[in-house]
Amino acid sequence: MPVRPPLHRPVGRREKRERDHDYDRTRDPVSRALYHSKRWRTEREAFLHEHPLCMECQHHDVIRPASVVDHIDPHRGDETVFWDRNRWQALCASCHGRKTAVQDGGFGNARRCS
Ligand SMILES: [Zn+2]
Repeated sequence: MPVRPPLHRPVGRREKRERDHDYDRTRDPVSRALYHSKRWRTEREAFLHEHPLCMECQHHDVIRPASVVDHIDPHRGDETVFWDRNRWQALCASCHGRKTAVQDGGFGNARRCS
């Protein structure tokens, strides 16, 4: 009797990589622990569920799905800031990348969309 070939289904590999990237964007061990926590995963997911669209894009009348929960104020490992949902915003990957680049690069905002 022939045996069915096993189904090859790599489980959520891309999703996992994106999440790892999310965690690894900071080298600060305290922040990393926060991003690795189950609570963050749960709350982040809930927040994206409530705010499915990129807030920054919406300012420019663009509708784009959000994939990142960004801390508006840099939390630097401060748990009060980290868990304060009033300081969170849902961003798409491209807006988040732009914001991070501006923060890391120092001199930002010379180029503005009009
Ligand atoms: Zn965006």
